[in-house]
Amino acid sequence: MDVSIVGGGIAGLTLAYWLSERGDRVTVLEKSSSLRAEGFMIDFFGPGYDVAEMMGIHDELKTIHYPVDALVFMKNSGEEKYRIPYQKMRSLMNNKHYNFMRGDLEQVLYEKIRDRVDVKFNASPISIDQDENNVTVTLSDGSTVTSDLLVGADGMRSAVRSLAFNEDRNHSIRYIGYYTAAYIIDDPEILKKTGGSFYTYSEPGRQVSVYPIRGDKVATFFLYTNPEQQGHVNKEEALRQLTEKFGHMDWIVPDLLRAGNDANDFYFDEVSQVELSEWKNGRITFVGDSCQCVSLLAGQGASMAMAGAYTLAKSLEEHPADLTHALSEYEHSLHSDIETLQRSARKFANYFLPDSWWRLYVRDVLTRASILPGVRKFVNFKTVRLPK
Ligand SMILES: Cc1cc2nc3c(=O)[nH]c(=O)nc-3n(C[C@H](O)[C@H](O)[C@H](O)COP(=O)(O)OP(=O)(O)OC[C@H]3O[C@@H](n4cnc5c(N)ncnc54)[C@H](O)[C@@H]3O)c2cc1C
Repeated sequence: MDVSIVGGGIAGLTLAYWLSERGDRVTVLEKSSSLRAEGFMIDFFGPGYDVAEMMGIHDELKTIHYPVDALVFMKNSGEEKYRIPYQKMRSLMNNKHYNFMRGDLEQVLYEKIRDRVDVKFNASPISIDQDENNVTVTLSDGSTVTSDLLVGADGMRSAVRSLAFNEDRNHSIRYIGYYTAAYIIDDPEILKKTGGSFYTYSEPGRQVSVYPIRGDKVATFFLYTNPEQQGHVNKEEALRQLTEKFGHMDWIVPDLLRAGNDANDFYFDEVSQVELSEWKNGRITFVGDSCQCVSLLAGQGASMAMAGAYTLAKSLEEHPADLTHALSEYEHSLHSDIETLQRSARKFANYFLPDSWWRLYVRDVLTRASILPGVRKFVNFKTVRLPK
């Protein structure tokens, strides 16, 4: 079968692996000119971990893994409030857990497929046509790619989704009330003020974190509540908003904000989920954030992207003669579990980022308790099942 995948992120590259593994001819169409840089740290656990195991990439994942020793909760003064050894958190996930940068995972996945999959960079769809025999995507440079199946793996604001369903690309996006920023700082003075842990300071409705990464750099992660969903926000405006929200804080926050001006790899976006009532239209379907974005609050988007890609490949393998049935089975086995995960992420939001000092206090008490031996067994991460 010929398959075109739009988007060379975690979902698209994982799907390309599994389809090429079973002999499909795969083309990946990626709008960027190259793979993305590091981006931000992700916690990686759940079904994606098992998919990675089946792909035989654990040695590579161990290499990109950051041995973060603890999650350290800070006071505004820069003193430590309490710390949770990361090993204790990993044991909540049966030690099946990694920390790595999103870009590093994409690089590992790309290395697995680069010799057997045609990856076209600078390629973005502007129109899609399909009939009963095939589907053709026209790219922004005027060229076309025709295949038996087209998969949108192009993230939360999927262009394939809007072309396939002829709708505004924000139509299926559910804003859940937060904005986030992440960037990397290359400044030895700031590095000296941190250590080998993940440090975080919270006030009601806002949280700032910093952690060391390879190459003597540190990475930041900001999260704050914002009732209003905005359109595109440029870097200057994003920095202005960060300063408005975090500018009064002490610790090393003023240094982090100042360093934002020089950061090249600057990420700023709303925190949203994707709710798509149907994941297919004829010969077009979706994987990863484009159809099932659970948001960073679920802490499993990357893992779910890999689980979705694996599930789609398995379904196509099981129903080789009936594409419609294969796509329905794929959706059927994941869709409701994803909805459950999205609901639980929305409920978790106020625990992750409490909106009052009192709730912050309760969060701290519960977080400290979660790793106590008798309590650990009650900590339960909702997730999805992989097909056998
Ligand atoms: C700050 C932050 C922290 C996170 N933390 C975690 C975490 O701890 N654990 C976790 O599991 N997940 C986490 N996530 C979520 C995780 O990063 C995503 O769920 C995951 O990256 C989704 O992968 P994807 O391939 O589906 O989509 P994306 O990562 O969005 O990739 C989409 C790809 O498609 C390309 N593309 C986009 N539009 C087009 C187009 N028109 N044409 C061609 N190509 C296109 C993009 O360039 C990109 O390469 C976090 C997310 C954020 C923002």
